Amino acid sequence: MSLKRCVLLIAAPGSGKSTIAKRIERIYKLTHICSGDLFRAHIANGTDLGKQVEKIMSDGNLVDDDLTMQVLGDSLSKINLKEYDGVLLDGIPRTLNQVELFERQWSAPNLVINVDVPFTEIVNRLSNRLTHLPSGRVYNMDFDPPEVPGIDDVTGEKLQLRSDDKPEAVSNRLDNYELITQPILKHYKDRQLLKVFSGTETNVIWPEIDLFLKKHFKIA
Ligand code: ADP
Repeated sequence: MSLKRCVLLIAAPGSGKSTIAKRIERIYKLTHICSGDLFRAHIANGTDLGKQVEKIMSDGNLVDDDLTMQVLGDSLSKINLKEYDGVLLDGIPRTLNQVELFERQWSAPNLVINVDVPFTEIVNRLSNRLTHLPSGRVYNMDFDPPEVPGIDDVTGEKLQLRSDDKPEAVSNRLDNYELITQPILKHYKDRQLLKVFSGTETNVIWPEIDLFLKKHFKIA
């Protein structure tokens, strides 16, 4: 089976990726498939696969390529093609071997979008983010603060800085991201499929992505 439309989204944690992904999904009818979410769902449902990957993920390592492709394959085979025109892949492929396996089994992507936000901006943004851990609700102390400082608007419970949002942890995550991502970006750049959008604010970057996709998919 080949996919009618397949777009890859590559962006660092804290770069506004999920906001952009939601908009692309809604406007361009591309179902958003995030590999991290697929694995987390397996863990939450207590599946055998979830048990296999739980420790790998909590240690911050990559899941093995064949298992990753199997999880992706399951998800792709369930897409409702009446509702969606294709897929927006997020977090996958993450190794050159996954790139090859994916292309062999499905297709080359039509397009690869890289959202490139300076790392200093991301560290700043995430260290200003407070989370209500039980629900995952997030606030930004600069531009989206809670009504009462340090307190969740909905439950009245305390907000916290996630341990992986602390500046040292964020720097580590970003270094890892860069290491893993560079070869993939180079591969797609060489294939002339890569389009990079740079900037610091999602609301400035988004209209550029939107315009580009409209032209690319020839949507009036
Ligand atoms: P992060 O951006 O912190 O890596 P994700 O939600 O994208 O968060 O992924 C969470 C974890 O899921 C990864 O650390 C890794 O263990 C696993 N994972 C996600 N996608 C892949 C992939 N394409 N290949 C291998 N492991 C993956």
